[in-house]
Amino acid sequence: MSKKPVVVVVDDEPDILKLTKKFLDLGEIETITCVNAKEAIKTIEEKYNKISLVLLDIMMPGQSGYSVLEEVKNNDRYNHIKVVLFTVKSFNEDIQKGKRLGADGYITKPFSGKELLKYIQNMLTEKEETN
Ligand SMILES: [Mg+2]
Repeated sequence: MSKKPVVVVVDDEPDILKLTKKFLDLGEIETITCVNAKEAIKTIEEKYNKISLVLLDIMMPGQSGYSVLEEVKNNDRYNHIKVVLFTVKSFNEDIQKGKRLGADGYITKPFSGKELLKYIQNMLTEKEETN
């Protein structure tokens, strides 16, 4: 019996959430969608032991994605959760800042659903890095 990995997708654009969920479903990944940083942080607090990865938009109204990234990377309970930035390609500064804050990778928008799924699957099967 295998358990589906759980991925939280955070984006303020409903179409992106819908499309992303569709592709992750195809890959037998359980998806929890959140429309803003506040909702994402609440979800992580409640379900952190079940969550493997957060796919995180940076540009959102209210708190930006960075607040979610910092919450995950600065909390010992959430150490196992990988964070992949989900951002527009031209926003290279976002990617650099995200990496400094501990992001594990990034996917640029617009995205190919197939590539997104492959990238996430690779991240999920990657062995934990030892320090
Ligand atoms: Mg956005």
